[in-house]
Amino acid sequence: MGTLDLAQDLKFRQLAFDWLATNSANGSRSLTRQDIEAFQGNVPEARHRLMNQEGIWKPASLVATLSVTSGLTNSRHNPYVDRVTEGGLVEYAFTEAPKKQYQNDGLRLASTHGLPIIYFRAVRKSVFDAYFPVSVVGIDEDRRVALLDLAGPLEPYGRIDVDVAPRLGEIEVKYRGQVVKRRLHQRDFRSNVMFAYTSRCSVCSLGHAQLLDAAHILADSRGGLPEISNGLALCKIHHAAYDSNIMGVDSDHRVHVREDILQEAGGPVLEHGFQKRHRELLRVIPSNKEFSPNREYLAARFEEFRSAT
Ligand SMILES: [Zn+2]
Repeated sequence: MGTLDLAQDLKFRQLAFDWLATNSANGSRSLTRQDIEAFQGNVPEARHRLMNQEGIWKPASLVATLSVTSGLTNSRHNPYVDRVTEGGLVEYAFTEAPKKQYQNDGLRLASTHGLPIIYFRAVRKSVFDAYFPVSVVGIDEDRRVALLDLAGPLEPYGRIDVDVAPRLGEIEVKYRGQVVKRRLHQRDFRSNVMFAYTSRCSVCSLGHAQLLDAAHILADSRGGLPEISNGLALCKIHHAAYDSNIMGVDSDHRVHVREDILQEAGGPVLEHGFQKRHRELLRVIPSNKEFSPNREYLAARFEEFRSAT
């Protein structure tokens, strides 16, 4: 197979993005390496896999790089590879292997031709969040990095700014780096909380990724860390109820509903979603104790619920 022309190449990328959007439920679900490898079999026009074992992936017949894959570091405190510029661009390091310089050329070509790529970010071993389409907005030849814009003006799916206000463009340039980093960490956090709770609401066990959030027990604005034991997988309604102290969870994992809500007459959501959950234990808890909601965090947060009611 020869090299595709630019239009064919772009069409192939679109197929890959569509496939990723479907299979990641628009970025709300992480993908295993095995999931990602299934791409080849599912799309007849596509004869390329989507990722390399690691690093930069430039299939021979494409004009430019198709994807880059980041690994995990060994640090427990910050396991993710993160280099975000002050302006909010993710730096992706060139390969230094002499025989693989064509891969760096692939990134240069993606930048020159404006061809969007995929950024696979490892969130656990062999599990990735896919960011797409991502623009290679420049190459820093001195530092030997490609500059990736994960929140640029491309089709809005599988990107970090989806459903997050304000848009990056409205944020002062000097803060963009912090904002992008924070959003990356939030998505990492989400992915790991969803994994620990098998994508189910811990209060009502609803199991649809698009309807679920990773809630913080202690808010990050109050020093809560983005670690799994400071998280609860909650459906949208239980998340809002938890954040607004309509519902609390004590350190023994018991659900409490605000008194006036218990007395209120209403429809099925009020009855089944709240009143019948009162004093019930959380239905879904991570099987791995290390990931269980931290009792001290729960207790501190429950104090807030108590004093608000
Ligand atoms: Zn729920």
